[in-house]
Amino acid sequence: MKHERKSKRRKKTCDVKGCDGKKKQSVPAGKASTKAGLDIDADGPNAYLCKKHWKEYKKNTKEEREARQLSWK
Ligand SMILES: [Zn+2]
Repeated sequence: MKHERKSKRRKKTCDVKGCDGKKKQSVPAGKASTKAGLDIDADGPNAYLCKKHWKEYKKNTKEEREARQLSWK
């Protein structure tokens, strides 16, 4: 992994480690990390995701919901 200086708050890229995608969507950092399994590197309570990781976030959090529905059946 390359060394990076601590990022400034005004960066415009995705908060997933190693991703340089343009930020698209802000999500709760804790949820993105624990629920969606993303490797988040955010300073604050919110993380910014690029389009690709936002899709992954939605997919992973949606699967959780569907799993709950299946067990309910
Ligand atoms: Zn990303």
